[in-house]
Amino acid sequence: MRPPFFQSLAAAHRQVNTEANQAADTALVGPSAPHTSTSARTEVESWMESYRPFKSYKLGFIAISGEKTALVSLGHPEETKVTWSQARLNSLNTMLDDIDRSISTGSIKRVIFITPGSDCFIFGADLNEFVTRQTPDDFQQAIDEGHRIFARVRNLPVKTVAAVQGACVGGGLEFALNCDEIVACRSKGAVSAYFSSEKTKFAFPEIMLGLFPGWGGTILAPRKIGLQAIDLILTGRDVKIDEALRIGLIDRIAPEGELLETAEMAARHKGSPWRLQGIKRSEKGLMTDLKTYLAQDWPARYGYKYPWFNKIAETFMGEKVMKQAQSAAEKGMKSFDPTEQLANGPAALNVILHGLRFGLDAGLDFERTEVTRFISSARTKSAARFHFAEKAVNTAASGITLNPIEQSVAIVGAGVMGGGIAASFATRGAWVRVSDMKPEALRGAEKRVHDLILKAKAKGSLTEREAEICRDHFFTHFDRQDYSDADIVIEAISENLELKKKVLPEIEATLSPDAILATNTSSKPVSEIAKTLERPGNFCGIHFFNPAETMKLVEVVAGEATSVQTLEQAKALVKSIGKIPVVVKDVPGFLVNRILIRYLGESQFLLQDGFYPKDIDMAGRHAGFFMGPIDTLDLVGLDIGAEVQMTLAAAYGERMRFPDLAKNLVAAGHIGRKSGRGFHDYTRDPRRSVPISDPRALAELFTGNLSSLSPYPDLDYIGKRLTFPIIDEAVRCLDQGVAGTPGRFAAQQIDVAMVHGSGALAIHAGPIAYAERLGAKRVVQEMDALFERTGAARYIPGPSLLERARQNISFYEPLFVGDNDHGE
Ligand code: NAD
Repeated sequence: MRPPFFQSLAAAHRQVNTEANQAADTALVGPSAPHTSTSARTEVESWMESYRPFKSYKLGFIAISGEKTALVSLGHPEETKVTWSQARLNSLNTMLDDIDRSISTGSIKRVIFITPGSDCFIFGADLNEFVTRQTPDDFQQAIDEGHRIFARVRNLPVKTVAAVQGACVGGGLEFALNCDEIVACRSKGAVSAYFSSEKTKFAFPEIMLGLFPGWGGTILAPRKIGLQAIDLILTGRDVKIDEALRIGLIDRIAPEGELLETAEMAARHKGSPWRLQGIKRSEKGLMTDLKTYLAQDWPARYGYKYPWFNKIAETFMGEKVMKQAQSAAEKGMKSFDPTEQLANGPAALNVILHGLRFGLDAGLDFERTEVTRFISSARTKSAARFHFAEKAVNTAASGITLNPIEQSVAIVGAGVMGGGIAASFATRGAWVRVSDMKPEALRGAEKRVHDLILKAKAKGSLTEREAEICRDHFFTHFDRQDYSDADIVIEAISENLELKKKVLPEIEATLSPDAILATNTSSKPVSEIAKTLERPGNFCGIHFFNPAETMKLVEVVAGEATSVQTLEQAKALVKSIGKIPVVVKDVPGFLVNRILIRYLGESQFLLQDGFYPKDIDMAGRHAGFFMGPIDTLDLVGLDIGAEVQMTLAAAYGERMRFPDLAKNLVAAGHIGRKSGRGFHDYTRDPRRSVPISDPRALAELFTGNLSSLSPYPDLDYIGKRLTFPIIDEAVRCLDQGVAGTPGRFAAQQIDVAMVHGSGALAIHAGPIAYAERLGAKRVVQEMDALFERTGAARYIPGPSLLERARQNISFYEPLFVGDNDHGE
């Protein structure tokens, strides 16, 4: 919803536009008659009357009050999303020329920057331009331009305030940091329509694009919030409005509907923001927090501004601050880069430290130089491409909009998955009931849901009232029920086809005719189950990934009889709880598991060939996977892995048939993380895997021939063996239409599904994006080389991949070669 003051501004804007068009574009428009509304006077409108339109620009306008406060809008009233395009930077530059002139004549005494949308202040740089820029020089120019124009804002000789409502991220936050104060208000419109969807947030997401803030954020954020900035910059996490005030990133929170009044007050220095707001409050008490602040954040923020402090800082505090910065950075790095191979994290840290050591100007210079190294890299371009893929998939999912609070969801089966699915819906306020035959399973699910609600409340993503609603809407039942009032029932009972064929019709018999019935099966054919139902059109697969409450991807499986309306409803429901729905065909393994099994299976061949588990995992991470294959198998469970592999080998034949090296392990009860031991050891800490490195111990555990364990592994070779089979399978899925009609959108769905469902080739933006970057010819050459070296038939590329290489066509173009090896 658009804030009401913009409705007034829109009228003012139309008026100023007409006037500005009459005047020469370069001349300042003289004050016109105050804007008066014909509608009933509201508080905001009466406030607006004190502003006179001043001038309209290509992307924005300025209005000035009788008290000489300039209200600078960085967008036109009808714009809901503002990004920093080249055109907007130019527009701001022109505005600043006028502002400078007016300040020098005394007609502007303070400046408030606003934007029109209530969900978005400024989203950051325009990624469309990002992808089209070609050379490092193009990027350098854009970086320099941003620095130059933002410096003009920073150096304005009057007080400046950024009045923020909605997302203030990336270049948006960097811009705001150049203002003297940041005032923010909640994005109320969104909250009233949707449960817990406060849109006012602050973040530096650049790190996920293989970058770091490059328009001054790396230097300015530590000056405003001290070492807390390291966590923000290295994790890219969102900071909600209350936390932003607590850590000192913003200076005031405006009461509802009073953003501009509060910004005006800040601009006039009326009232002062809480002086100690930079102190991060913890459970440890104010004195401890104060000490931490004095030791870390104060010197980081102010220390290097004052020459007298430099001396003390260099000799005493300097080292301490740097050490603390290092350890804060290490913590941040772990959550940002579990693969420990992305160079932008350490580079960002280096820039932050440089800024702390050598001050503002030297820091900004260094940031400019460093960010240019990364901005035109292939990794950054891949990340931008992935961003567009995500956007395309999300947009395709939004045909229907559902409010979870109005949905009644029943889940049958309260085990590992049922509990997680229940938690995903319950924390969004949906009406959720879970049933199971085992009381202990119900108790487990209940605890999981309540713990998650508590956690969300502690994090600030649920308010007290919202948490209460979540709890009130959640129920468990010992037996199955009459589901006549449910909008959807999701079956998550044990993976047994006969059981599912028995239970699902019983559930269906109690459903209302337009309700949806879904199964969470990971390997059973949806179309076959549908044959047991009265209304197969209303039935589909909704395949969550484990752990369901954290994994964003959900495969919506279209059975042969599933209706389009059911698919649309299912997608909307999944989207309403913040997940990404990808519609896939009902083929064995669906999409993600089918592709991923080639990665997991290859690890077994590598073990057999004498490579250490820890080296295989390391090579996997270096090849761009979030998790090594052995680690993944331990997480999934070796028993489940073996079962999935058997099903898929039966369906797809030779290329999915792997040596069962874990037979001894499973027999000994070592079935992965859940049992404390698998390929790795988890007995000391269930969250940390300790590789078993003693060759004799390994040889005893595995049934394979491990006599030739190699002490000098060729990580590049292992990485290739893990990478190319997965690309081959992804291309087969693409051209067999598993993710929709072959073409760009299907390719994007596969990449989004693989990255969010398994972390596969994540740093290359997914398997198809990586293949596209390499080109089909190169992919085939790499597979041929693997075939020559090993003689293994699984490296023979699929027919469509060969055809693409022969014709030299993009993976985003459709290709039909009748390559259907499903059911081989
Ligand atoms: P689980 O064994 O942890 O839980 C199954 C639950 O269903 C048990 O609590 C059991 O008591 C209950 N149950 C069995 N029959 C029932 C019945 N007739 N009525 C009510 N409750 C009944 O299994 P899980 O891992 O949660 O798997 C559930 C489904 O989700 C399976 O179809 C599985 O393939 C699928 N899945 C599992 C994973 C995973 O990683 N575990 C991932 C994705 C999908």
